[in-house]
Amino acid sequence: MPAQILDGKAIAQQTEAELSERVAQLKERSAGQTPMLATILVGGDPASATYVRMKQNACKRVGMASIAVEMSEETTTEELLAKIDELNSDPTCQGILLQHPMPSQIDERACFDSIVLDKDVDGVTCLGFGRMAMGEEAYGSATPQGIMRLLAAYDIPLQGKNAVVVGRSPILGKPMAMMLLNANATVTICHSRTENLPDIISRADIVVGAVGKPEFIKAHWIKDGAIVVDAGYHPGGVGDIELGPLHDRVAALTPVPGGVGPMTINTLILQSVEAGEKKLA
Ligand code: NAP
Repeated sequence: MPAQILDGKAIAQQTEAELSERVAQLKERSAGQTPMLATILVGGDPASATYVRMKQNACKRVGMASIAVEMSEETTTEELLAKIDELNSDPTCQGILLQHPMPSQIDERACFDSIVLDKDVDGVTCLGFGRMAMGEEAYGSATPQGIMRLLAAYDIPLQGKNAVVVGRSPILGKPMAMMLLNANATVTICHSRTENLPDIISRADIVVGAVGKPEFIKAHWIKDGAIVVDAGYHPGGVGDIELGPLHDRVAALTPVPGGVGPMTINTLILQSVEAGEKKLA
């Protein structure tokens, strides 16, 4: 049987219809004030600029406002912290997105952590991560949270399953592993020092590829009937997993593009709407 396609684009589109309604209600309840996401882009990385633009477009589609803060390549940590502070205390701003990666002189962790918890709609702070890991209320890191939403949308069972996450970055691999653990999967986290990676992957019921290297995870490492989630996206339209040969072998897979990417943006917007709703609650 061909693999079920976990269609992130379709799920994101469905959610946007519902989000437009919720934004309209929020406006009504706040005397016409439009909920707003602030995006911060530091430096001129073209890929980051594209991602920020896509996030602003998604705001527009659901009727949310967005402001685009653009800061130069030479920005210092202090300057960025001051800008975040300004947005933290801006009552018209419901959420803050600080686009990663930032120029090397910036203390990225300090800047992420300066975002107040109720505006951390991209789920990047240590506090948010800790709360999420402990099962407390917090916005999840957008990409892994989007993956969890996608798996839920297709009723993919996680409990008791052997899940292998390849990658341990603060925004993706680590929170992904915690979310799967909280969903009662048995989780293995792999990274650049992991030994016998193909062997570990071959035992996985669920594989999440978050490595950042095109088609690094080979199709023949993955067992028949597995659930395959590919977070990567590289020039040429390939992800971190060699997906081609898996289409007639695994139970389900996320396409590249159109799988994880749209769910990341959609989760950011969903969490921004939730932040607006919480403020009015
Ligand atoms: P990252 O910060 O570069 O982290 C990559 C991870 O892969 C690291 O933990 C690294 O291990 C691990 N790794 C590197 N080489 C490895 C190897 N040979 N064997 C096993 N593990 C290895 O990347 P990221 O930000 O997490 O992103 C991962 C992927 O997801 C990228 O393809 C990125 O484009 C994609 N992504 C997509 C979205 C989206 O919205 N769709 C959002 C974010 C990221 P060490 O920790 O040991 O170095």
